[in-house]
Amino acid sequence: MKISIKLKFSFFLALLLILAIGVLSFFVLRGVENNQQAQVESYLAQHVKTVNLRVKQTYYTGTGDRPEPQAFLRLRGRGMAAELAGFTGMEVTLYDEEGVMVGSSAQSNPTPVKPDVSTALSYALENKIAYQNAGDTLLYLAPLQGPEGQMGVVQLRYSLKSNNDFQHTLQNLFLTTGGIVLLLSFLLGYLYFNTAAAAIGRLKQAAEKIRRAEYIAEPPLRRKDELGELAQGIFYMSQEIETSIAAKDEEQRKLQLAVEKLQALEQQQKQYIGNISHEFKTPLTSIKAYVDLLNMYDDDPRLLADAKQNIAKETQRLYEMVEKVLQLTALEKYDFESQSELLEVAAELRDICSRMNGKAERFGLTISLDVHPAHVWMDRESFMHIFINLLDNAIKYNVPGGNIHIFCEQQEGRVRMIVRDTGIGIPAEARGKIFEPFYTVNRDRSRQSGGTGLGLSLVQNLVEKHHGTIELLDTEGPGSVFVLSFPAVS
Ligand code: ADP
Repeated sequence: MKISIKLKFSFFLALLLILAIGVLSFFVLRGVENNQQAQVESYLAQHVKTVNLRVKQTYYTGTGDRPEPQAFLRLRGRGMAAELAGFTGMEVTLYDEEGVMVGSSAQSNPTPVKPDVSTALSYALENKIAYQNAGDTLLYLAPLQGPEGQMGVVQLRYSLKSNNDFQHTLQNLFLTTGGIVLLLSFLLGYLYFNTAAAAIGRLKQAAEKIRRAEYIAEPPLRRKDELGELAQGIFYMSQEIETSIAAKDEEQRKLQLAVEKLQALEQQQKQYIGNISHEFKTPLTSIKAYVDLLNMYDDDPRLLADAKQNIAKETQRLYEMVEKVLQLTALEKYDFESQSELLEVAAELRDICSRMNGKAERFGLTISLDVHPAHVWMDRESFMHIFINLLDNAIKYNVPGGNIHIFCEQQEGRVRMIVRDTGIGIPAEARGKIFEPFYTVNRDRSRQSGGTGLGLSLVQNLVEKHHGTIELLDTEGPGSVFVLSFPAVS
């Protein structure tokens, strides 16, 4: 059975109080009793002195021959007892030296029960003081002194009733006040321990919360004692656990992300290798077919001319592909080693356009420029690669009579460059994939124009290596718009 801490403490307090009150009342009552006894003794001793004086006085003031003390007592005992009772206000009994009662004031007013006093009497006859308690009465027996030493014994009957009554009253007082104090202190103790137990309960609740990972935002108690310190300790502990668990979760999340990234990379790599093999196989198959045909019909001049043209075309394609794959691999594998320099963007773009103009004209296209002064810190080779690839695509995927427009400006610390064409455009569903290696919207068209599907992937890599961005705009009309941005050099 579970007994709550407040009950335990309250009972303990009550026990302590019972002990304290018990010991206190015991000593007080004993003190009072001793004090009363000493008072009674001195009171009775005083009266015995008076009795002795009176007896001696009576003995010596008699006329004629003085009788023997024994005879005197037997003769005058009864009268003296009555007289002495008048003096002392107590019942007086006189005994001679043989222990025979010679007179008692009780004879005229006899006491209902006569106690046996023989033991006390024989003791008093040896010239000593003896007491005997009989209910509410104390019999005090003292030697009665005669002319030649002890001549008998005087017995005083003293009523202890008032003393006993006083002690009883005192006892009752102790019992009632003790009881009331006990009850009150138990109640007060219970109330006090109740608040202490409530505080402990709140600490327990806080610990429970922490166990359920519900961390506390403030100490469960604000007190300036050990419980307050414990509450503060629990609060700090909660904070520590929360931060370390959060750090662990964050670590786990990062690890999970790294694993997912690695898995995606592995998947990409597999796809990349698959694509390379596939893309390489197509021109090689074509070359092999021509070689086989030439082996069979080596004297056919038309086949020879055809084979020469196609083998050259496929070899060129293979060459370009190998070159781009090598470039891409180098970009990913090694730290990008570039010879960055300050480039005047407008001049570079004009130069690139004049190089590509011949090809554009062959396709019946025009290139227009709107370039404003801007400077970037870049590797010239990479800059050329990026824009030649973009312009080459804008030509390849254009329509006869189409146009290519190049724009450039420097604004808010960035250089923005736009390559816009009026070509066949890129369908919305393909926009997210065109930067992936080997991705082509239309494989046949791409192959016809000597495309490899690696150009934009290489462009994106080069742009990012130079801390730039490239995006394909979501355009409504025909054609495509590529927007590039690089940190500007002011
Ligand atoms: P490719 O060598 O085939 O041109 P890229 O990586 O340069 O490879 O381009 C990927 C694909 O994106 C191309 O096959 C083409 O379908 C599409 N594309 C790229 N640029 C353009 C453009 N300016 N207009 C239309 N389609 C484009």
